[in-house]
Amino acid sequence: MSDGIKIDDMRAKTLVSALQAVQARVTKAASGRNVLLVAVSKLKPPADILALYQDESVKQRHFGENYAQELMEKAAMLPKDIQWHFIGGLQSNKCKPLASTLPNLHTVSSVDSLKKATQLNLGRSSFPTSPPLHIHIQLNTSGEASKSGTVPGPDTTALAQHIIKECSHLKLAGLMTIGAIARSKATGEGEENEDFKVLKEERDRLVGELGLDGEAGLELSMGMSEDFEGAIGMGSDEVRVGSTIFGTRPAKEDFKVKGDVEEGKA
Ligand SMILES: *Cc1c(COP(=O)(O)O)cnc(C)c1O
Repeated sequence: MSDGIKIDDMRAKTLVSALQAVQARVTKAASGRNVLLVAVSKLKPPADILALYQDESVKQRHFGENYAQELMEKAAMLPKDIQWHFIGGLQSNKCKPLASTLPNLHTVSSVDSLKKATQLNLGRSSFPTSPPLHIHIQLNTSGEASKSGTVPGPDTTALAQHIIKECSHLKLAGLMTIGAIARSKATGEGEENEDFKVLKEERDRLVGELGLDGEAGLELSMGMSEDFEGAIGMGSDEVRVGSTIFGTRPAKEDFKVKGDVEEGKA
């Protein structure tokens, strides 16, 4: 299946050393805590993913994607034990197809409505023997109108309760924020990013109100290329890093999923 995907040795070396460098930074910032590194491969070719999957020293398994169609196409041609994270803006009508197509979908990190949770739950019921699909509620921690996500407070509580009580094929695993990039860039050494602070406070509030302080608790998914070390310092359990591993991304309209075969060539 992934047999047709050709990996360029030079490219593989570059990717592996970039990932190793990020891993080292994550480990250092985490100072003994467990922090998951999701390699965000959106708009990057399947060969890049396979290179990091196959390398014996890194053995990367967790990859993040932003577009449902792109994720489904890539997942179909890549190994079935890859743990996929859907982290992008999600339309309600894509939830069920996504969850019912991919048994190795590990987490959907961008859930911000009851309807989306319900549809994902329906989709995941196609795989009754798979573990529940992990869900992160995406929060709009910056209050910008352009950002998706729930507002901290009662709406978020209601969504969390819905997932816990009504969605037996889902597991409420944590909270996610993107935050304001500008704010992140403006945050100096030793200063706390306001979005990460809001996410953490909201987690602590929910854990208290819903009595979730057992072994599982709720994890925090925050931190990207620009700010993952600061996020880990503020308690992040999962960072989503793309461009620092894979390099800058092409424009979405220029990207097509393909293996080694150029269109029009044999
Ligand atoms: C693209 C993306 C990332 C990774 O961003 P980089 O800055 O390339 O590390 C992380 N999270 C989300 C939700 C994204 O869309």
